[in-house]
Order: sequence, then structure tokens, then C-alpha cells
Amino acid sequence: MNLNEYKGVYVFIEQKSREIQNVSLELLGRGRGLADTLKEELVAVFLGYGIKDQCQDLISHGADRVIYVDDSRLDKYLTEPYAQALDTISKFEKPNIILIGATSTGRDLAPRVSARLSTGLTADCTSLEISEERELLMTRPAFGGNLMATIVCPDHRPQMSSVRPGVMQKLAVDTARTGEIVEFGVNFDDSKFKVRLIEEVKEAKQMVKIEDAHILVSGGRGVGTAENFKNLEKLADNIGATVSTSRAMVDAGVMSHDRQVGQTGKTVRPDIYFALGISGAIQHIAGMEESEYIIAINKDKGAPIFNTADLGIVGDVNKILPLLNNEISKLTE
Ligand code: FAD
Repeated sequence: MNLNEYKGVYVFIEQKSREIQNVSLELLGRGRGLADTLKEELVAVFLGYGIKDQCQDLISHGADRVIYVDDSRLDKYLTEPYAQALDTISKFEKPNIILIGATSTGRDLAPRVSARLSTGLTADCTSLEISEERELLMTRPAFGGNLMATIVCPDHRPQMSSVRPGVMQKLAVDTARTGEIVEFGVNFDDSKFKVRLIEEVKEAKQMVKIEDAHILVSGGRGVGTAENFKNLEKLADNIGATVSTSRAMVDAGVMSHDRQVGQTGKTVRPDIYFALGISGAIQHIAGMEESEYIIAINKDKGAPIFNTADLGIVGDVNKILPLLNNEISKLTE
């Protein structure tokens, strides 16, 4: 493999119902820095159907060139058509670096494409830098977050990395920026399409975004199960609050990532923040310490969350919450 043939920082642009996802704009922000350091081009790869009009937005967010594929087979995300499209573009373009958001779509797509390109993938990166040797330094938590590992891909190209939403910074929009917009035609092999999307079911309840909420009821591993989270939802309903969470509960699959507070989640600043069964790890505190008033319930009186809380209650949250909900219900009867 002649590594010098591979040039440019390419960002996979994720869209849902033609809405460009924030993580892709954040990756354009970081990608711009990497491309400038390497003195290479920043390219947005935009797949979808009826998306042409949005290509200029990607230039305004930092891309030098947008390659788009507009095809009805790319209307909704399905693994095989998307993998075929990104694989074909990558084999034709020979990117030096490909960045993909570590969303459910990105987590599905990135490993398939990296396997087809016979290259490595570093998933869930929290930092991306360029070394003196012009290699991409991909840093991610390892061993349960106990250490940070910096990974390189010295012998293969492209260097592929996925990055969690909310970690990188978008650039300020510059509508005066100009760039090239190129349509790319993909000869899909439809015989490989084994999955059809029959129905899409949207989440029934539209919740307030946690970063906009005035009161947050946040539950961690101490709350434990989805069943116990119902007590949090009840408290939230009772006091007009929104439910959020720690990363432990997102990793456990109990809560969705858009509810996560912290370094790799959202930064929140509500009037009242309930930290329930949350230990108070530094990465969590980073996202909520600016809250006006913090109330913590934890059964361990030495839990670090009590150093940040304005009001601390030592006890079992799953016993205290039903009692609290009962008392509040009496007041509102
Ligand atoms: P734990 O640390 O397991 O704490 C559970 C707490 O509940 C304990 O204090 C325990 O005493 C208490 N408890 C248990 N049972 C009960 C009960 N019945 N009643 C009351 N209390 C009880 N974390 C985030 O939250 N957000 C982030 O954005 C984030 N980003 C990260 C980024 C990196 C790079 C790394 C390495 C880590 C990140 N983390 C993040 C993870 C973070 O380090 C912690 O692992 C995580 O916050 C722990 O979540 P937790 O407090 O819910 O769980």
C-alpha cells in the first residue's frame, strides 16, 4: 500500500429525515483543524435522498468540498446501501482520514466500511490530533475508562475513527465560505440488499431537551433498572422536570444518549438538579456543576457527589423516591 496516495480528511455526514446531525457538523469542526495541520482538503461525504440543497451548509461549516450521493435507496439509513456508497467513494477517492459520528448509525456503518477497506477503526474517540509523523493520533478511554489509549494506524489507509456526539466543537457558520459540490454516482448491487425498512415508529413522547430544562431529575447506576427509573419519571411529572442520566445508565442501555449529562454528554445548567444514585465522577460533574441548586441522594455518605451538592440525603434512592412521590401527590391532590 502506498500511503502517500491517500489524501484528505473526509467526514461522513449523517442525516435523519434530511436533517443534518450535529455530530457531523462537530466533526467538520475538528476535521478542519486536522486538514489545516496536514495542509490537505476537508471533504464532506453526504448520502441521502433529496439532499442536494443542503450541501452549501456543509461548506459554511468548514468543508472545502462536498461529495453527495442523491439516491432513493439512501433515503432512510440501511446498512448495505450506505456501506456500499461509502466504500465505493473511499476506494475511488483514497482518503487519508475518515471520521464518522459514534451514533447508532455510525456504530453500524463504520466497522463495516473499515472491514471492506481492510483498514483499522478506532471507535468512540474523545480526542484527535496529528503527530509529528503526520499520523492521526486517536485517543479513547480504555479498560472501563481507567486509562486513555492513543491509537495509531501506521500501515493502512484510510485512518478511520468514530467520535461520540458532543465531544468536538462546531465551527461558527460562515455563509460566505465557498467550496466545490460534486455529485457522485454509485452503481449499487441491489442483490446484496437483504433488509427492507417496513415501518418507522417515532418515540411517542416528545421530551424537553435536557439542556433546556429548568429542573432535571438525573438518575445513575444507583437507581439501577428501567423499572426503578419509573419513580424518577413520576417525580419529574410531579414537579414539571425532565429526566436525565449518567453515562453508566446509557452504557447499560437503560437510557438514550441524548439524556446523558457530562463530558461526553450534555452540559446542563438547570435551576435545580437532582443527582439520584450518581457517584459524582469528574466526567459527570463537568456537565452539571453550574446548576443553580444541586440535591443529591446516595446511600454512600462518602460519595463525591456530596462535595458538589447543596443538599445531600444519605439513603436508598429507591426507598426515598416512592415516599417523596407520595408526599408530593398529597400536596397536589
Ligand atoms: P457509579 O459510579 O457506579 O455510581 C453509582 C452510585 O450510586 C454510587 O455512588 C453508589 O453509592 C450509589 N448507589 C448505589 N445504590 C444506591 C441506592 N439504592 N440508593 C442511593 N444510591 C445508590 N459519566 C457521565 O455521567 N457522563 C459523561 O459524560 C461521562 N463521560 C465520560 C468520559 C470519559 C472519557 C470517561 C473515561 C468516563 C466518562 N463518564 C461519564 C463515566 C464516569 O467516569 C462514571 O463512570 C459515571 O459517571 C458513573 O455513573 P454513575 O454515577 O451512575 O455510576
